[in-house]
Amino acid sequence: MTDVSGVYPADAPASQALFDRASAVTPGGVNSPVRAFRAVGGTPRFMVRGEGPYLFDADGRRYVDLVCSWGPMILGHQHPAVVDAVRSAAANGFSFGTPTEGEVALAEEIVSRVAPVEQVRLVSSGTEATMSAIRLARGFTGRSKIVKFAGCYHGHVDSLLAAAGSGLATFALPDTPGVTGAAAADTIVLPYNDVDALTRIFEADGHEIAAVITEAAAGNMGVVPPTREFETALRDLTRLHGALLVSDEVMTGFRVSKAGWNGHSDISAPDLLTFGKVMGGGFPAAAFGGRADVMAHLAPSGPVYQAGTLSGNPVATAAGLATLKNCTDDVYAHLKAASAKLAGAAHEALNAEGVPHAIQFAGSMFSVFFTSLDSVSTYDEARQQDLPAFAAFFHSMLSQGVYLPPSAFEAWFLSAAHDDAVLDQVVAALPKAAKAAAEAGSMTR
Ligand SMILES: *Cc1c(COP(=O)(O)O)cnc(C)c1O
Repeated sequence: MTDVSGVYPADAPASQALFDRASAVTPGGVNSPVRAFRAVGGTPRFMVRGEGPYLFDADGRRYVDLVCSWGPMILGHQHPAVVDAVRSAAANGFSFGTPTEGEVALAEEIVSRVAPVEQVRLVSSGTEATMSAIRLARGFTGRSKIVKFAGCYHGHVDSLLAAAGSGLATFALPDTPGVTGAAAADTIVLPYNDVDALTRIFEADGHEIAAVITEAAAGNMGVVPPTREFETALRDLTRLHGALLVSDEVMTGFRVSKAGWNGHSDISAPDLLTFGKVMGGGFPAAAFGGRADVMAHLAPSGPVYQAGTLSGNPVATAAGLATLKNCTDDVYAHLKAASAKLAGAAHEALNAEGVPHAIQFAGSMFSVFFTSLDSVSTYDEARQQDLPAFAAFFHSMLSQGVYLPPSAFEAWFLSAAHDDAVLDQVVAALPKAAKAAAEAGSMTR
């Protein structure tokens, strides 16, 4: 029995039973930490089906999906063209360990969309893409240091799991046990959007820096777009000092516009870019690419080794290609309008209840910060959120049939399938959720 009422009790017996089973055989009961609801409390919902803008859980309840698999499902679930592409690819066999035409077509699609990408290498996850791009940058420059920014997430690459302290330049300490000091020692962590800190580090250590890696527009601390000054400094300083600029578009790529953030911005022409999420259409496909002279250093044309048994997997590339082919100008126009509508309604509802908040955009991507700050431009600022207020807001939305990301530090993802009627359902749930946030919250403006 499917329940589409959007009036759901707080407990979810079928999900709870699955979570109990999962917790016995898997650490924390999940295969990726943020799925566990630790930040909001309660039982993670086990989903059994996705259809268009909806997810259906093990208790038969229907939710408007505002996670979209953390970005990939930009066309909604079970888009017919993607289902067809996957079916016909699978009917020809799953994996050959040889080159296939689908990989060429997907690479051509990426190169044709993103001007700075002349050559591309397909991999299976965003983590693999950033890890490989860093290795290539080091191999190309013969230097070892990497600059990253606090609050930017680049997958769980050892050397990039250092977010370190705040404020000034910090030589990074590992963020997690299991990453050695040596692995993090060549990582320098700076505050995002901080032109002075970037300038100082290049003046001090510029000749040792292989690359600066940045989220094209940050999405993993909530949405924090780069300032124009910051983007300009990133490009100018790396160029001046012979370091590479690596723009991580795993989240923004093919989502914030047809060409991702770098198609949206007129400033940055990164040397290397990384992709994932949307380009896999819900399957494990990712990529890194950029300047042909840099990519030529990659095996087998060059000495920097990189490989993958399932890289360019035929079923995954078919899903990715079909997804990109259907991400038309109309889809991007729709995402932009839908985001504006939802963000506007959230602003209105939170204002009506006096809940301090800031809503920020990067192209069609947006997030809601439960903060008394007017705007957020660094990780330190992003962390100044009223987390209990968010948790109450989240659970109210969930009980009304809206599945938000279970963390205050995430973008709300929309798809082409989120039409006006679906958005209206979300809008209708907002006032009650805002009231719940007001009751649980402790911040005032
Ligand atoms: C999701 C993400 C990654 C990691 O991708 P996985 O496929 O989860 O390994 C890397 N960078 C950014 C910006 C991301 O959003």
